[in-house]
Amino acid sequence: MTELPSAVQANLQKDFAALQKRTLLCYQCSKCTSVCPAFRIAQFNPRSFILAAVNGGIDAVAKDKTIWGCRNCSSCQVCPMGIDIPSMVLLARLRSLRNDNAPPAAKTGHRRIFNLAQRIQAASPVPPVTNKWPLNHQKFTERGKVALYTGLMPIWDNLMYNYDLDFVTGLRAVLEAMNLVGVEPAIPAGIKDSGHDVYYGGDESTFISLAQYNRDVVEKLGIETLVVVNPEDYHAMKHLYPKYLGPMSADVVFWTDFLVEKGFVEKLRYQAYLDVEIHAAYHDPCKLGRRSGIYASPRVILENMPGIKLVQLRDEKELAPCCGVTAFIGCDDGSLYLRHERLKEARDLGVDLLVTTCPSCVSHYSCALASLQPLDNSQKAKPLQVVELGTLMGTRLFHFDKK
Ligand code: SF4
Ligand code: SF4
Repeated sequence: MTELPSAVQANLQKDFAALQKRTLLCYQCSKCTSVCPAFRIAQFNPRSFILAAVNGGIDAVAKDKTIWGCRNCSSCQVCPMGIDIPSMVLLARLRSLRNDNAPPAAKTGHRRIFNLAQRIQAASPVPPVTNKWPLNHQKFTERGKVALYTGLMPIWDNLMYNYDLDFVTGLRAVLEAMNLVGVEPAIPAGIKDSGHDVYYGGDESTFISLAQYNRDVVEKLGIETLVVVNPEDYHAMKHLYPKYLGPMSADVVFWTDFLVEKGFVEKLRYQAYLDVEIHAAYHDPCKLGRRSGIYASPRVILENMPGIKLVQLRDEKELAPCCGVTAFIGCDDGSLYLRHERLKEARDLGVDLLVTTCPSCVSHYSCALASLQPLDNSQKAKPLQVVELGTLMGTRLFHFDKK
């Protein structure tokens, strides 16, 4: 494993020392365990993990294979003592990988293709081409102060080749909407993947390599506002990059916040004249909701779309359940059970469309939808669908043909 730069190591030491000190405040109240999805499927117990970390130190818990059962969903942020359990788990995973004792469960789904793509990008001296995806009339530039960051999304459909997914339509829709509010963003070739998945898999050196590269490119190109389309990339660039490397030169903004702030919704007034045809519910992705506090803007865009009625799910916002497969770790029967529970909740409420902003959530829920038991024939429900908000904008608002 590559040695981290000394400045980064110093930041980490400080961070981890504070983190470990805080665990001493744990009084074993079990609030974390009571909300933990991994505990529900008998894969991880955060209360026991913290107790073991206090008693034996991080190296002791790094040997415990259940650390790979945590979903890094942050539901346990309810801890009254402010103990950051997901970060402690990450620290344990990092030690586990360093000691080369990661269990098979650490191997991510889809033959680790996302991790591999990130490692290849981190190692390659050739900047990736990120702006060659099919467009209609949407406009963008090579350079500019406002830039659209797509991450791996232009090739996501190909990486998940065994599913009928379509994220390019969503990208085109976000670009179209930016044009509609008078912005022709730069889509600079050369920014690499954010490194979110390798980070949550405990591969810190690959993550730091990607973060340093991306931070330098953003600064060199003079980008002032970086509009990000994927919640996981947003979380990495907004919160993790500064934690490890210091402040970014650009303001990192999630695309729904950007559009709402630019008055996009005011451009959708004609929707008032259409009847409601679709009952849609919004599912908060962990990295955008609990980790970043963005709850309002996706809902504002969704409920202002033509013919859409927003239905409230039982558990929303801070309480929204995790899809169960962070960074493609934990794609198993346990997380399938969690996903089925969420899909049934939506279906029981008469939801036609479960909408979210995270391509990972869309992939994992779409997969689970295929194995969800149908309702019995006496119940006349329309089949539930799962869709990414940008893709829905593309088909429903801008009438794009899907790819
Ligand atoms: S919620 Fe916090 S204080 Fe309570 S058991 Fe969990 S880590 Fe300890
Ligand atoms: S991050 Fe989620 S899965 Fe991990 S311990 Fe906390 S609640 Fe459980």
